[in-house]
Amino acid sequence: MNQFSDMHVHTSDSPDADIPAWRLVQRGVDNNLGAIGFVAHLDLNPEDFCYDSLNAAAYDESIIRARNESEGRLLVMKGLEVGEPHKYEEQVKNLVNYSDYDFITGALHTVGNIGMILGKEAYSDRDPLEIVEEYYIETLRMVEVSDIDILAHLGLFRRGLALAGLKYDFNEMQLWPETIDNILRVLIDRNIALELNTSGLRRKEKITYPTPPILERFRGLGGTFVTVGSDTHREPHIFFGLEQGAVLLLKTGFPEVYTFLDRVPQALDLI
Ligand SMILES: [Zn+2]
Ligand SMILES: [Zn+2]
Repeated sequence: MNQFSDMHVHTSDSPDADIPAWRLVQRGVDNNLGAIGFVAHLDLNPEDFCYDSLNAAAYDESIIRARNESEGRLLVMKGLEVGEPHKYEEQVKNLVNYSDYDFITGALHTVGNIGMILGKEAYSDRDPLEIVEEYYIETLRMVEVSDIDILAHLGLFRRGLALAGLKYDFNEMQLWPETIDNILRVLIDRNIALELNTSGLRRKEKITYPTPPILERFRGLGGTFVTVGSDTHREPHIFFGLEQGAVLLLKTGFPEVYTFLDRVPQALDLI
């Protein structure tokens, strides 16, 4: 198998992560990674833990240092993870210039005012499946209008459901097939990559976001544009699950994953 790429790696430039980008480059070289896509949180939802925390100039310095550290041994990409871009994109674009980044990842972290990674407190008042259905409807809105290259962690609510001790082993492809098909079709039509996020593999739910049935459906609809990302924030789970993710992608019929330079996708062979 070729060298891995990881398109979802947080650095100490975000308040919920604590490893500097240059250090992650060293670790990437040690782990035989071929490419790292760094992301900084850009969240303008006041409820979010990372609300308005991006210092674009400092992040830029971090990336420059990381590129120097790499000495060409791995590709370093500079990305942003924008929370709820369909709601905040205008404000986001007043803060940063998207053309300064290699890629923009769109992430849905909240539905209404319910945080998807919170436990019991988020799911106490309402039927959890109702909230999950809203999550998918809101995701559809997000991918229809946002200026993004990658859709992050589709199905993140499983982390919150598992934390709350609620059932999470349902198959949403059976519950809301139309909404999910619509999301996947919009990704294909708008040339947005579907991220296979492997962070759920190290958590209680032990599953990728999205789940294998959704990944299969995406391929079945003709989707080929995928990235893989570990959502690394800190030790001890750096780059966790990349190999398992690559195996799943190959098995599902995706021979390539994508990286981005100046918002232009580049294919990398998985085999
Ligand atoms: Zn996220
Ligand atoms: Zn993230």
